[in-house]
Amino acid sequence: MEISSLLKRFNEPETLKMAKLGRELRAQGHDVIDLSVGEPDFDVPAHIKEAAKKAIDDNWSHYSPVPGYPDLREAVCHKLKRDNNLDYTIENIVVSTGAKQSLANVILSIVDEGDEVIIPTPYWVTYAALVQIARGEVVEIKSSLKSGYKITPKELEAAITPKTKAFMFSSPCNPSGSIYSKEELEGLAEVFRKYPNIYIISDEIYEYINYVGDHTSIAELDGMKERTIVVNGLSKGFAMTGWRLGYIAAPKDVAKACEKLQGQFTSGTNSVAQKAGVVALTAPLDATIEMVKEFERRKNRIVELLGKIDGLELAMPDGAFYAFPRVDAYFGKKAENGDVINNADDLCMYLLNTAHVSSVTGSAFGNNECIRFSYANNMNNIEKAMARIADALAKLK
Ligand code: PMP
Repeated sequence: MEISSLLKRFNEPETLKMAKLGRELRAQGHDVIDLSVGEPDFDVPAHIKEAAKKAIDDNWSHYSPVPGYPDLREAVCHKLKRDNNLDYTIENIVVSTGAKQSLANVILSIVDEGDEVIIPTPYWVTYAALVQIARGEVVEIKSSLKSGYKITPKELEAAITPKTKAFMFSSPCNPSGSIYSKEELEGLAEVFRKYPNIYIISDEIYEYINYVGDHTSIAELDGMKERTIVVNGLSKGFAMTGWRLGYIAAPKDVAKACEKLQGQFTSGTNSVAQKAGVVALTAPLDATIEMVKEFERRKNRIVELLGKIDGLELAMPDGAFYAFPRVDAYFGKKAENGDVINNADDLCMYLLNTAHVSSVTGSAFGNNECIRFSYANNMNNIEKAMARIADALAKLK
């Protein structure tokens, strides 16, 4: 008896693996600081919790329509108009069990065997796995620290072939924190206008966690909305990771396809979370703004502390809650026990076992030179973790 070949085509998410290893070490009594996870360490704002409690009392306990309750899809349209000046109707919206499911729906709806999906590196772990599940081909565009981990229109055009089906990216980016400005997106859009058959999957889940100004969605640019699938969700901006609410705004045929797929996989997502989601998406964003202020304080501190560690090189993150320093200056060095650090995977494990700080290897994001630290942890832990990392790295010879 054998497990299917599908399972051999992709790996367990490295982010979840590191969190698991950290928990195991903690269970053995070690004081592990977790800088591996991608979730805000904040509570859900009170008005959203109240809406969920009311939804329970009002007996919103039944199956919902597969693409989500109409009032939630209306609220998504309201949000897209309010924040992004995008006009959609509820036929364009499909709500799912997290943006992760939204992305899975989209990839399985548009990618056939052999289709190419262009993904700039570094990218969120799940992108490549989803394309592999759909039997598509991942085409990476390598970006570097020098370019602020963003690609140029020329690099985009060079990666396009007759088999290109989609381009998938996140801005703000997990893991680099880079944000494409409106002008930079316009440069990419100009290339796309020459190739009308390529879908753009724009993951905007970190939209609100932005330290440099206005967020632009590529869907706002001329001719782009008709071919862009905007992916977003409530996990990051409202600290609602466990509530599992994500959504897409897409051309109607893609939305229909996602609905059909979701109808066989999960049906509509959690009814109570959906009702709370209506409030989250339509109420003022004060709690989010406060949270982002705190993230910015931590970002400044972690950048300052990483900057003091020899050999680490960092692009200033513009958004999200990650620092993604280059660590390759340490490759080839030896730990006190004689182990050689050959790559970012080894360095991550070394930091976990020696400094008791969990992080995520860049290789999980298609980048072999960096590691990712999440600063969704309190300032005290961030400072303690950076001191331990500095000590551990200084011991590498
Ligand atoms: N996109 C990106 C870039 C992410 O970092 C995450 C969460 N780590 C997601 C999508 C998925 O979020 P969720 O499924 O919680 O909505």
